[in-house]
Amino acid sequence: MPDVYIKTPNLDSIFEKWKNQEVRRNKKKMEKEFGTKGAVFSLNQISAAEFVKNTNKEAAIYFAIKKSTAPAKGSEIKAIPASKINREVFYSFKGQKVNKENWKDKEKVPIFESIKQIPCDSCKGKGFTQQKCKSCKGTGKVQLKGTVLVGENKEKKTHIFEIPCAECYGTGNIQARCRECGGHKYNFQYEIRPVPFITVVTGIPVLHASTRKYEKEIGEDLHKLIKEVEGIKFKDFKTLEAKAEASLGYFNKNIKKAISLAKSDYTQFQKDKNAEIITQIHLFPLIQLICTTKRGSNFEIYSIGSQNGFIIYSTF
Ligand SMILES: [Zn+2]
Ligand SMILES: [Zn+2]
Repeated sequence: MPDVYIKTPNLDSIFEKWKNQEVRRNKKKMEKEFGTKGAVFSLNQISAAEFVKNTNKEAAIYFAIKKSTAPAKGSEIKAIPASKINREVFYSFKGQKVNKENWKDKEKVPIFESIKQIPCDSCKGKGFTQQKCKSCKGTGKVQLKGTVLVGENKEKKTHIFEIPCAECYGTGNIQARCRECGGHKYNFQYEIRPVPFITVVTGIPVLHASTRKYEKEIGEDLHKLIKEVEGIKFKDFKTLEAKAEASLGYFNKNIKKAISLAKSDYTQFQKDKNAEIITQIHLFPLIQLICTTKRGSNFEIYSIGSQNGFIIYSTF
């Protein structure tokens, strides 16, 4: 891009604009600070030459971003033994949307409505497994040796009594509690889903000034008045860094620092998935006038923009 030189507004026009703005806002104070006893108050008596004591040439870097508060993306399935279901805390939204500003919690949470019972794989949902009874070796019977004495001679005979096994009630099998599900038959499965945030897209101004005063106000005003304030637009910081001094016609270490802070913000936003940079990078002349009233009170005036379009602030 060719070198663009921006003409800063001159001291008189800044002071004029301030005077006219301030008298509408606060005439009493103007009269008190600049009036002459016994004389009719007139703005013409208030000149930059007389009341501006010093001027500093600074700069501001501005761009705007759009931030989206859309729900996070992606969900995840989790499984938990039935007996541990109370260890998880679940959330229920029932179709309601959530304002992200009020949500001081995780962006993805376990959803109550997603809970499902999944039959245990190991026992097929029975809670137990069949095993051969150890007492009867699966026969269902146990044998007891008895004695029978026969006749007068009491001939001793052994008789085998076969009775049902008491361990398995004669079935030969016993039911062992399933180790996998602990006998609860199923496990729980649920989803960790994004909190259903209302999608709001907000424009946010980002401003860095080499004089920190009014940084926030200037940023917000520029966001609304960007068309009324003239600056130089850059596509990237590399160009801005190379051209800043030539564009402004002056430079200082605070301007350098402001540029580097703005650049680091810009890089952050480029990486931020929820943010989108929606303007070019603007470089504005920022003029600080250090003034004293007729009564001797000190105040400052700041102008941001070029001689073709600037806005002002004051500590008056
Ligand atoms: Zn048995
Ligand atoms: Zn099981």
